[in-house]
Amino acid sequence: MSIKIPFLKDNHNHLFTYSSIFEKQIDLFNYSNKNNIKKLLQNLSSNSINIATGWLDNYYTFSKEELNSFPPLILIHNSLHKFDFNNSAEKHIVERFPEFVKNKNSQQWIEKNLMKILSFIASLNKFDENSFKNILASLSKNGVSYAADMFVDNIEIFNFLEKTEYKKFTEIWTEVDFYEKLNTNHKNICEGIKIFMDGALGAKSAAISEAKSEWNPILIYSDAEIHNKIEKILMLKKAIAIHCIGDIAIQQIINCLIDLKQSISDTKIRLEHVQFITKEQAFSAKDLGLILSMQPNFNMDSIIYQDRLTKKYCENNNPFRMLINDAGFIPGKDLIFGSDGMPSGVHNAIQTSLFPPIENQKITLEEFVEAYCIENYEKYIEVEISNNKKKTKCKIVEK
Ligand SMILES: [Zn+2]
Repeated sequence: MSIKIPFLKDNHNHLFTYSSIFEKQIDLFNYSNKNNIKKLLQNLSSNSINIATGWLDNYYTFSKEELNSFPPLILIHNSLHKFDFNNSAEKHIVERFPEFVKNKNSQQWIEKNLMKILSFIASLNKFDENSFKNILASLSKNGVSYAADMFVDNIEIFNFLEKTEYKKFTEIWTEVDFYEKLNTNHKNICEGIKIFMDGALGAKSAAISEAKSEWNPILIYSDAEIHNKIEKILMLKKAIAIHCIGDIAIQQIINCLIDLKQSISDTKIRLEHVQFITKEQAFSAKDLGLILSMQPNFNMDSIIYQDRLTKKYCENNNPFRMLINDAGFIPGKDLIFGSDGMPSGVHNAIQTSLFPPIENQKITLEEFVEAYCIENYEKYIEVEISNNKKKTKCKIVEK
């Protein structure tokens, strides 16, 4: 049986970061054999800094010696929250961003400076229209016709969107300090303000209360700091997107928004990821009128991160059934989907939604379309579902 669905609107991606960092770079996501990866890395160019993305440290890590045996290399963890580089890359980095060299092993510093780091790495490749076109084309081949960039702090990109017709394919978000310095036109181009509450699972820094292996839960703000920050952002009359993965971080932002309840009613506020949201938190979020922006592909974290997450957390990851059936979230209205680019595209998204590792993560195809698809049917995706094999197959039909 095959069903036609529209292309995806990826509500949480990093389109420009990926088009600058990733397009010409090496992606390790589909490799888990360390020897194969070593061969791949040894053959990189020695004339410029190479950037390898999709590093999964639950499968492999490199010793200092191994890392130094490669040409100049920056290694980016698949979560985008962890980095490493070798001595020959460090020589280039230290001139332009010495704090990065000094603090690359401090997860606290990394989480606080994540935007700065990613935009620094993106700036190692010049941003141009062609690479942007290429990434749009490759997204289209994967069934995506619109993708957000959740943090942009490169003024060239604002200029680019101001002068081109590409605005209809994307929306950009930025951090508050950068936003305040923008001119009026650029402020209008900007969709909203992004804030981080905690770290990530890949870097073992999401704010959860228990873990199997060594964990460093990071809350970026104190309660007073986040209260002041949100109060200040509310005055800007822009949408707000708040990264919070762990239940502790989710609780912190919910408490803050309950305090500010009188002043938030006119503001669109999204909680990003909320992977470990509890039932009680879900009811509070619904009551506050918040939008949950989630990634069905992160259902697989219940498998990938079994090395670090306790059974309780694996089972409570992305509890979509609880959110929809119990807390009353409505797909497409206050429950929206994206990929965070890990990976982008319909294939993984459909498979992990319809046949997730945990029953509570299951999404129906109708719910998927509401939460994840655009309304325009010009291009479409043919989804074949085999309930027996628990497999989905997508054919992309680009007109
Ligand atoms: Zn993101």
